[in-house]
Amino acid sequence: MLEEKKIPFNWPYMTGKELYYIAEAHFNGRLAGDGPFTKRCHRWLEERTGCNKGLLTHSCTAALEMAALLLDIQPGDEIIMPSYTFVSTANAFVLRGGVPVFVDIREDSLNLDERLIESAITPRTRAIAPVHYAGVACEMDTIMIMAREHGLKVVEDAAQGVMSTYKGRPLGSIGDLGVYSFHETKNLISGEGGALLVNSPDMSLRAEIIREKGTDRSRFFRGEVDKYTWQEVGSSFLPGELIAAFLWAQLEEADRITKERLASWQRYHEFLEPLEAKGILRRPIVPGDCQHNAHMYYVLLAPEINRQEVLDSFKRNEIWSVFHYVPLHSSPAGKRYGRSHGDLDVTTRLSERLVRLPMWVGLTNEQQERVVEVLSEAVS
Ligand SMILES: *Cc1c(COP(=O)(O)O)cnc(C)c1O
Repeated sequence: MLEEKKIPFNWPYMTGKELYYIAEAHFNGRLAGDGPFTKRCHRWLEERTGCNKGLLTHSCTAALEMAALLLDIQPGDEIIMPSYTFVSTANAFVLRGGVPVFVDIREDSLNLDERLIESAITPRTRAIAPVHYAGVACEMDTIMIMAREHGLKVVEDAAQGVMSTYKGRPLGSIGDLGVYSFHETKNLISGEGGALLVNSPDMSLRAEIIREKGTDRSRFFRGEVDKYTWQEVGSSFLPGELIAAFLWAQLEEADRITKERLASWQRYHEFLEPLEAKGILRRPIVPGDCQHNAHMYYVLLAPEINRQEVLDSFKRNEIWSVFHYVPLHSSPAGKRYGRSHGDLDVTTRLSERLVRLPMWVGLTNEQQERVVEVLSEAVS
């Protein structure tokens, strides 16, 4: 249970129906993957995003690994991505022998800087993997035009972007492929969990095969083939029904959960306006075409402020506030397997100044006031 005084960084929200649906799955006696709850979740993904095929996976990491298999990434193939991202964006491609090419991010949204992509393209480039940081969209129109001009595929890492849109289009539904995460720390959760959105109809059948151990089992169950056999390289990427049952309770409440998070986000944004006006920190910038999902509230501290002191001060006050990614290009594996494009100055500079504030459904007005109070004291 949550202790009175402490303010955790994240607190998983449950709608109250999770156990009820798990009991239903238990009662149905269908526990393996692709049962009734999985099908409901798939339909939700397809209806809400307009993707050609939505498929639940064990995690967003698994969905990214499926994407690398679907794109048939070969050793030496290059994939353009930000350095400022979670390891899975890179790892999934490196597992196939691919080479992440790290490109700098934009000052405003901290997303892949679309103006730098073209100069990073080489004859080995196969794909672009934009990451929608904090659920705020990358400049997708420019990215898609560039990808089409150069014959590249686009895999949107929308792990944080469920329920966000770009020019009215759901994140994850714009590139050839998109991935979602339902990890406990994300907006809609199933403990561990994720999804692959297949937007190109020509990849849908192969996606099903890769997800079912490389077999055409899904077609067999639909009565489209009279036996199922090994078709190509695949693995087991599908979650069991208990996970899907849990997730279904969350998807049903997706609009309300998003609305509540947005209200908390907006409160921080208002409370922190004076500190921004004093030049002590910068609040998140959401470009006009983007409707975000309040996945995260972060601040960028002014360069003269010592971030560690701010984090220590939060800790003393039992507030769990954290920084975020150590840029991949500066990590041991990033140096071994990836390549940097340019000096990545914005990535290095901003990642060292970023602090994420507690954000979860149920965070009270008073708790947010305390977070802002402790932050104000620490920086002044
Ligand atoms: C959370 C996250 C992932 C990984 O998600 P899992 O479901 O934990 O595998 C990948 N990319 C980004 C940008 C993330 O935030």
